[in-house]
Formats: sequence, structure tokens, C-alpha cells
Amino acid sequence: MNLSTLAGNEKIKDQLARQERGRGLSHAYIISGPPGSGRHALARQLAAAMLCTGTGERPCGRCVPCQKVMKGIHPDLSVTAGPEEGKPITVDQVRALRADAYIRPNEGERKVCILEGADRMNAPAQNAMLKLLEEGPPYAAFLLIAGNAGGLLQTVRSRCEELALTPAEVPEAGEADQQRQALAGKLAAALERAGELELLEAAASVLDVKRSREELSALLDEVADQLTARAAAGGDRRRLLRAVKLVKELRRAAGLNVSGSQLSGWLCAGMFEAL
Ligand SMILES: [Zn+2]
Repeated sequence: MNLSTLAGNEKIKDQLARQERGRGLSHAYIISGPPGSGRHALARQLAAAMLCTGTGERPCGRCVPCQKVMKGIHPDLSVTAGPEEGKPITVDQVRALRADAYIRPNEGERKVCILEGADRMNAPAQNAMLKLLEEGPPYAAFLLIAGNAGGLLQTVRSRCEELALTPAEVPEAGEADQQRQALAGKLAAALERAGELELLEAAASVLDVKRSREELSALLDEVADQLTARAAAGGDRRRLLRAVKLVKELRRAAGLNVSGSQLSGWLCAGMFEAL
């Protein structure tokens, strides 16, 4: 099991690796922890591990299913969030998920469902979820993301394995922030104005550096923020918004084991294919 991009949380990584080697991954996990603890990244990596067709350690990050999970386009992976930003998943959504679970996987052996903010579902939605956990088809797997596992009914918790994440320690936050802003500024400037080769060079110098997944995500968030600010300040809007979209795609890919040089390659290809 390759979970090297999740910072810290060694116990959980060991636990999952042992499980995968032994009886195999479970069909239902609750992934809990505060924002920034890597819940979404872990959910995506587990989904990739379940759908990966590579040989050796999973997720391999290179096979077609891994790539599709990374880009958020794998037909056997669904992500359910509330109907509106900040709203919990409704009972109707869980029922729809249940109906969908019975349609066999399109491409792989399994069907993986990620549920966002599962601890905020009301009791009817949680009871519908419980039924699905108890009676769902054997190929279906459920990853429930929760801020606080205590918000889930005991009956739901008893059907899942809990993975309680803690945020990794980040030393010298002030200095790290400044450095990140400077690097993000360099990349944002190149994305706004540079030619292809120049951009490739700038992207490689910023991205092709060994750093934790959290740090890479924070850096890409900062790049997206700076690009948005440049667009608002009257820069080349079409090019800047295209760059924001690409950087956000990259941020999703950063959850898996993709190298900095692959990321910079994608970024440049994406920029110049569109212009
Ligand atoms: Zn793979």
C-alpha cells in the first residue's frame, strides 16, 4: 500500500498496509479528522488503491484507473456532497446512491463512493446509509468523510472501520508561508505571461522540489489565489482563468503519487494546448 503522500499518521498508514496485505481493504471506512488532516487525500488514495490495476504497491499512480481517479473522471468512483455548499447530504441523495450501487461497475471490479461531511447527515439519511452498508452489493465500497465521527449513529459506526487522522506538524510556519508566497508568485507570473519554454522552466523550478503533499497542496492553493487576484487586477483574464482551472486540476492530482516534473509537464501542456 503506497500512502507516502499522506503526511504523518504513521499508525493509520501501517494499519492500512497490513490490512491490504492480509484480508484486503474493508468495504467501509469512516475517515475523520479536522480540516487539513488529509481526509480527502486519503479517501482518494484509498479509492485509487481499490481501483488500481497496476502490479506491485497500490495505488501505483501510473495505470489508467489511477490516472482517472486523480483527474476525478473514473466512472466507478462517485463523490457525494450536500446539494449546496455547506449543506449536508440528504436522504434522497443516499437513496440515489443506493440505486446506483446496484448498477455493476463500468470498468473495474469495484465501485467506490466517497461521502463528504457524512457526520452532518440527519438521522433518516444516516439510516438509509446504514441499510446500504448492510445490504449493499459486495463490490461496493464506501468512504465516509467526517469532521467528527461522533456525529454518526452508533449503528453506522459499527459497520465501518474508523481512520482518525491528525494534522501533521508543520515547523516554522511563518517562514514557510513567506517562502510559499514567493514561489507561488513566481509561477503565477510565468503562467500569466511566459512563453512555453520559459513557463516549463519556471514550473519545474517551483514544482520539481521534494515536499509533502500538504505543502504542495498549500502551494498550489496559493498559486490559484494569486492568479485570481491578477485576473481581478485587470490581467489577461482568459489566460489567467485557464491557468486557475489547470492549477486546481493539478491540486487534485497532487493527492496521488505524481512527481513534480510530471506536474510541471501537465501544466505547460495544458496551458499551451488551450491558447
Ligand atoms: Zn494504479
